[in-house]
Amino acid sequence: MTDEKNAEKTRKKKSKSGAGRPSREQAEDAVRVLLRWAGDDPAREGLIDTPARVVRAYEEFFAGYDHDPSEILSRTFSEVDGYDEMIVLKDIRFESYCEHHMVPIIGRAHVAYLPEHRVVGISKLARLVDAFAKRLQIQEKMTAQIADTLNEVLQPKGVGVILEAAHQCMSTRGVHKAGVTMVTSRMLGTFRSDPSTRREFLSIVGNPGVMSVPNT
Ligand SMILES: [Zn+2]
Repeated sequence: MTDEKNAEKTRKKKSKSGAGRPSREQAEDAVRVLLRWAGDDPAREGLIDTPARVVRAYEEFFAGYDHDPSEILSRTFSEVDGYDEMIVLKDIRFESYCEHHMVPIIGRAHVAYLPEHRVVGISKLARLVDAFAKRLQIQEKMTAQIADTLNEVLQPKGVGVILEAAHQCMSTRGVHKAGVTMVTSRMLGTFRSDPSTRREFLSIVGNPGVMSVPNT
């Protein structure tokens, strides 16, 4: 089955809240309402196809709801030939969406773990980031979700996750501060308890100024 058909099938299932998802037509109508709210005329030539395009874009923006993050990590390799060093995938670009304003959060994720018995293909780490990014998010929650899922499924000695991202709700509205990056982290197991493990991780990813600030 193609990914597209799969996504359509999942969309038809009930959403988490228990309510069925609205139809594509209802979603397009909602976009027409917002166009009118913005002060424009959805019937003018340039906007005729916009609701359909926006709804298709939403399918991409929010594709993460159709993926089970634990499932992505379920195929592991136990033959690691005694490899017991840190595994780091850095600079994983992600595009997410602020759950308060529904505008983009664009950044990079650095994901690391110290394997105990099992490892996963590195592309799975990037897919894990996307599964959580392609949803309505706040950066702190997304950081914790990536780290906790990796920790639960792989049960490694430790996990480190750092996210650096720019929030368009800060640059294009509100305080209008461009060029600001928010950095969040979650360290579990040896990444939390062993300062040398944490230092190694931070130095591999270029020592981003890790701190957590509230997302407004
Ligand atoms: Zn926001």
